[in-house]
Amino acid sequence: MTPIEKILIGKIENEGPVSLETFMEMALGHPEHGYYRTRDPFGAKGDFTTAPEVSQMFGELIGLWCADLWMQMGKPENFILSECGPGRGTLMADALRAARSVHGFSQAVEIHLIETSPFLREKQKKTIHTYSPHFHENIEGLRNVQRGRPLILIANELLDALPIRQFSWRDRQWKERFVNYKIDMGFHFIWKNSSLPHTSLFEPEENAICEIGLARDAFVRDAAALTKNGGAALFIDYGYMKTAPGDTLQALKDHKFEDVLDNIGEADITAHVNFETCTREAGEQGAEVFGPVTQGRFLLSLGLAQRSEALIQSVSAGMKDSIGAQNTVQEIKSAVLRLSSPSEMGQLFKVLCVSHDKSIRPAGF
Ligand code: SAH
Repeated sequence: MTPIEKILIGKIENEGPVSLETFMEMALGHPEHGYYRTRDPFGAKGDFTTAPEVSQMFGELIGLWCADLWMQMGKPENFILSECGPGRGTLMADALRAARSVHGFSQAVEIHLIETSPFLREKQKKTIHTYSPHFHENIEGLRNVQRGRPLILIANELLDALPIRQFSWRDRQWKERFVNYKIDMGFHFIWKNSSLPHTSLFEPEENAICEIGLARDAFVRDAAALTKNGGAALFIDYGYMKTAPGDTLQALKDHKFEDVLDNIGEADITAHVNFETCTREAGEQGAEVFGPVTQGRFLLSLGLAQRSEALIQSVSAGMKDSIGAQNTVQEIKSAVLRLSSPSEMGQLFKVLCVSHDKSIRPAGF
């Protein structure tokens, strides 16, 4: 039994079944034993591989996107570049390296990372130590130190990790999914009478599962609000553009899907992002919404093909005819496909930008 399973059983015995939202929060974010608090989940030895871990090209293109935006913002001499959920810090390191080529960017940038995992904070500190990053627990922490400065905010695969709730219309009544535990049954889902928070979002359809991600919608809205002094917030994640019923809750361990209620706290639990509701509140508060567009389209329009050609040429020039060079060229080509092909990450992943800064036109949309 995992430590989180023990804690959950105690909680359920004392307080009754826990909502899916509480379950996700505890499994991923419990201060001591939560999935992200205790490990480096990325790469071949971990549970899943994210785009920045596939190739340096991903972070480099985002870095150039930031530099272009900074120029559109009028090259402010002091601005905040923030990443939320930076993982190993790979995206930020690649982005900063690429953006260095733009005169003045590195001198103007101040790095602020929003990261709840002390374990991953240590990794991030090492990866981008030359920029002495500031750390925050949440978006309020960032807001408290912004002091009127413009902001560019990036979040790759953060929203999918924020908790969701699931509802279903059963026996002429909205019910919400909870997690229960019994000695003879182990952990299992139950449906409890409830009411739908967004009444207009879903039509009652017997047994269909309807997902609502209030924490995600709030995060996008709050990030957008920080761009009122200039800048933009960029979100990249797997998800869908139009609200539709469906159960997208998933658990990944060792690169394989597994039951969400197995190995609680030792598998990554996520759900696909509803990009329609994610933009609604920010839009209602006056933010401009760019996209969502597919990751494939976004990266190709930022110059993924050209960047990969340049990398291939520099690799080939450095390692003439060696097996090493052929392997690396092959790796670069397969990374391009992995990031942009519709059958890989190119279609499922979407890119969204929100901003209150009316003077900018972010690249790639
Ligand atoms: N962006 C990285 C990592 C994605 S995994 C990449 O693309 O490789 C999710 C990241 O979000 C991890 O760093 C995790 O610790 C962090 N995280 C999870 N929940 C969070 C929360 N509520 N607030 C801030 N960071 C969170």
